[in-house]
Amino acid sequence: MSSTVISNIATLVTNDPSPDGSGSPLGTVRDAAVVIEGDRVVWTGESRKAPATDNRVDAAGRAVLPGFVDSHSHLVFAGDRTEEFNARMSGRPYGAGGIRTTVAATRAASDAELEANLTRFVTEALRQGTTTLETKSGYGLSTGEEARALRLAARHTDEVTFLGAHIVAPEYADDPAAYVELVTGEMLDACAPHARWIDVFCEQGAFDGDQARAILTAGRAKGLRPRVHANQLSYGPGVRLAVELDAASADHCTHLTDADVDALAGGNTVATLLPGAEFSTRAEWPDARRLLDAGVTVALSTDCNPGSSFTSSVPFCIALAVRDMGMTPDEAVWSATAGGAAALRRDDVGRLTPGAYADLVLLDAPSHVHLAYRPGVPLVAGVWRRGVRVV
Ligand SMILES: [Zn+2]
Repeated sequence: MSSTVISNIATLVTNDPSPDGSGSPLGTVRDAAVVIEGDRVVWTGESRKAPATDNRVDAAGRAVLPGFVDSHSHLVFAGDRTEEFNARMSGRPYGAGGIRTTVAATRAASDAELEANLTRFVTEALRQGTTTLETKSGYGLSTGEEARALRLAARHTDEVTFLGAHIVAPEYADDPAAYVELVTGEMLDACAPHARWIDVFCEQGAFDGDQARAILTAGRAKGLRPRVHANQLSYGPGVRLAVELDAASADHCTHLTDADVDALAGGNTVATLLPGAEFSTRAEWPDARRLLDAGVTVALSTDCNPGSSFTSSVPFCIALAVRDMGMTPDEAVWSATAGGAAALRRDDVGRLTPGAYADLVLLDAPSHVHLAYRPGVPLVAGVWRRGVRVV
């Protein structure tokens, strides 16, 4: 197995809090090196102490950090919603109903079209530093269509989520209870073999707390692990349900009561914030500062989808979180790497410590702070995934 050292790194973010003693969870090392062997990190530390290796890459005084872990995206779809975005920016409010437009386009698309779309967005994300990506079904809303979406997604990532409960399928508009029965029965049976997670959009206009509980509980009985679209558009039971069911993540968390924040702080559920959605819908920002001050683990992800957040850029989300959600640059970078890993209950990604996957981003900047300091600038100069340089 050949080994490679990336040396002359101005700032190395490891997410191992022990080396620098500063108390920052980023575990930054100055004038650093990282050694890769096969698909793993085997050593990190000061450049001058790096062991001998077969190959050497000169980082030339730039920053290296763990590849981003985007723990929330919706990439199996067809069509786009440019007109809806345009109308919304002209004053029309966002509701859950626009999803139906994408459902119609997705159902009409061939496997090859969906696959081409998926490949395009996964590649786009990788070029921007995302080396681990979760993605969901949710634009099929029939047994066959949901299973198809998950099969296609599983060709691109291990982190596949069954979201048959995105909205009530149009065919069941007059009988939501029958749709919940389908999702928890035949659809779940067909989808569970292709997914790791089960998710519900718990929201007014989508699924209420009782329906969400029934769906997540049924999924758990089939071996799927829960995560929840919770408290995005309004206050509601989603966050507390997520914590109660030990969901890995409660996603959005925009409208939170003190009881919701307390529940998150006392449980094992990560609060995944998705500022691309608030940006793209001109909605109120989630209050990251309030969550962090309460001791909640926070992840930052893109929510990439054609309706409410059509960005695959984690750096863009970091910049928004720092500018508008009260996060420091260190906190935002941690949340987009180790935080995303926590939201997927993974400890082999989102960190650069011996034994972790060698998923790395080289920035065209001396420090990770530049991700927020230089918003909108394509700073990702190199990406390694599983020890292989892919960008
Ligand atoms: Zn979402």
